[in-house]
Amino acid sequence: MSVRTRFAPSPTGYLHVGGARTALFSWLYARKHKGTFILRIEDTDLERSTPQAVQAILQSMEWLGLKYDEGPYYQTRHFERYHEVARQLLTAGKAYRCYCSREELEAMRAEQMARREKPRYNGRCRDRRDPPPPGVTPVIRFKNPLDGEVVVEDQIHGRVVFDNRELDDLIIVRADGSPTYNFTVVVDDVDMRVTHVIRGDDHLNNTPRQINIMQALGATQPVYAHVPMILGPDGKKLSKRHGTVSVMQYEEEGYLPEALLNYLVRLGWSHGDQEVFSVDEMIEKFDVRDVNRSAAAFNPEKLLWLNQHYIKQAEAGRLAGLLRDYLHRLGVDASRGPALEEVIEPLRERSKTLVEMANQARIFYEDFKDYDPAAAKHLTKDSKSLLAELRRRFAVLHDWSAPAIHTMVSQVAEEQGLKLGKVAQPLRVAACGGTVSPPIDVTLKLYGRERTLKCLDRALAFIDGAKT
Ligand code: GLU
Repeated sequence: MSVRTRFAPSPTGYLHVGGARTALFSWLYARKHKGTFILRIEDTDLERSTPQAVQAILQSMEWLGLKYDEGPYYQTRHFERYHEVARQLLTAGKAYRCYCSREELEAMRAEQMARREKPRYNGRCRDRRDPPPPGVTPVIRFKNPLDGEVVVEDQIHGRVVFDNRELDDLIIVRADGSPTYNFTVVVDDVDMRVTHVIRGDDHLNNTPRQINIMQALGATQPVYAHVPMILGPDGKKLSKRHGTVSVMQYEEEGYLPEALLNYLVRLGWSHGDQEVFSVDEMIEKFDVRDVNRSAAAFNPEKLLWLNQHYIKQAEAGRLAGLLRDYLHRLGVDASRGPALEEVIEPLRERSKTLVEMANQARIFYEDFKDYDPAAAKHLTKDSKSLLAELRRRFAVLHDWSAPAIHTMVSQVAEEQGLKLGKVAQPLRVAACGGTVSPPIDVTLKLYGRERTLKCLDRALAFIDGAKT
């Protein structure tokens, strides 16, 4: 039987890294077994689901490259089907209408609490013989088995046993006709012939209920793997207060999708001490059974390290295209100035994110506004003759290449009896407005002669205008 997995997010907010990791594990499992990966949007909670959240999920999946073979399916479009299955269960005597009013349920609860029992529906309408009370729209409840056990052979948690006496008859269709989560999941998992349910372990407690409904439908039980949650560095459940958790926010902050995927796959899963995995390697080596059963802690530093690793490795054309986009977001037009393919080379070594890279690259496409006050101290009367000399030589430098620029600057330093840094630093401030830039020879090469001379003229004028 071919493997069919699904990712079934509820569109109540952005896709966060925990959801993305679950999606990744499901996707990897399907890819590894040459199976089918399904995307199902669980949007039955009409109050909390939003079209924006659906878009954010689709966008995140696309950015991460987690292509689905089927879907996206939307549960709100399956209401007819859920009602049909509910009717089947009613007809087969496996579900029943419950007319208990809110007051009755509250009284039931209060009595159970007084007896120190776990509050649960006591099955009052299960075998109700008397005619239903008039004017009450019933809910539909599933007849959960009264005794026996449900055994979940979880691929991550191992064997987990639930006692049916702990489970009550859950509502599968509310009075307003809307189907409930545990019911819709089962109907869809069965209809979509899902073979492996890989999801967050916050759903482990729902699993026995779902298995019981599946059995009532005569369906085959899928294999379950409940993935532990992700914790923040402080050991608490990962949330916004730990920093970025939304997948698309990582995109905005300049992360590469492969870095995030690589980071997520290693979160709670390992293969020897290997840290870096290409997507193909993940597919080959990942096995959901090797996922750790305890929660994993999110480490932003490591993600940053992986991002830098992938930036260093990325193919130049792709990186250039990405850099163009990030520059555009900063309001910088990269069409006038040096070729992006050339700009990325000195920057990839020194950029942990694409945002950082774009901030460093903008100097090549627009003039800096003012000298950084701390750096302006390098533009003094003392450095004036030095900068003037450099300008004179740059104007006639035959070969405008980084090595030729480097040789020339070194020569000037030697002639003046100065260390290279003493020459390079005022030159850097003249060219970039600050003391930090990629190597100055490469920077000036990318600027071109004309702009370099303009920068030196500007610096010389600045020195002339300065009081000291
Ligand atoms: N819709 C559920 C959620 O977002 C997941 C349900 C499932 O995977 O079975 O938590």
